[in-house]
Amino acid sequence: MVSRLAFVCVMSSLAMAGCASKPPSGLDATRTAYVPVADKQSLLGRDQAGEPPFSAFGNSKRGRSSGPLAGRTLKVSSISGIRLRDKEVILTFDDGPMPGKTDNVLEVLDRYGVKATFLMVGQMASSYPAVAARVADHGHSIGGHTYNHSNLANAGNTRALNDIATGNSAVARASGTHVGFFRFPYLAQTGALRSAVANRGQVILDVDIDSKDYFTSTPATIAARTMDRVRARRKGIILMHDIHTRTAAMLPLLLSQLKAGGYKVVALQYRRSRMPEALVSAGTGETGSRQM
Ligand SMILES: [Zn+2]
Repeated sequence: MVSRLAFVCVMSSLAMAGCASKPPSGLDATRTAYVPVADKQSLLGRDQAGEPPFSAFGNSKRGRSSGPLAGRTLKVSSISGIRLRDKEVILTFDDGPMPGKTDNVLEVLDRYGVKATFLMVGQMASSYPAVAARVADHGHSIGGHTYNHSNLANAGNTRALNDIATGNSAVARASGTHVGFFRFPYLAQTGALRSAVANRGQVILDVDIDSKDYFTSTPATIAARTMDRVRARRKGIILMHDIHTRTAAMLPLLLSQLKAGGYKVVALQYRRSRMPEALVSAGTGETGSRQM
């Protein structure tokens, strides 16, 4: 229990820093971001014991997006395929899955009939496989976010790619789905890493609108701040984190304001590329980490 609490606490403090934010100066980029993982058996037991019965979620989990807020479904095999029109947004949730908190996010998304993409940390997915599987079962897309939320910008290509692959495998095993998307923790990356990830067939998700839900703002403040940025850009990929209680609390506010503003939530679906790997777009080749 102690180790589990330590794991969750470290996870929470990491998320407070925000995965889109530049890591604090002095942080060893190659350092393992998490404390040693908690006992897996106890975590699994906790996960399985704590989850509500499947019937509690109704029968519409695998359905497509529906309702006035639901937009197109974009099937993409590379980053260049993500072309949003005016007043279209994509919802993304990083750093989970987390029992209870991720479930609350799923409930709100179901209520509004929209689909999102969840970028999961491998270690979290391994700890809470039932929650990871539930996200996929609700019809959302799944991506990787490394195994332990490392800053990969200075990790060296071999080590970074191993971390990405280990994380992807853990998320695939837990969720039971293909892990078609990827987001760099802290958005810390190099052009070489972007190319390598793209050439392995994953679609890299960047961030256009940071909700900054890792700050301890009220749900209304987070929703208002996010809507301000949405209105300024008129479209884009929105970053949120499904490991915070306040994120699920603010989500109905955000989605109702998007609906009132005539925005549409675009669902992303991964499609395997038919092109040779070497020809897959490697994105912008941007180097370094970004402060969002
Ligand atoms: Zn993150």
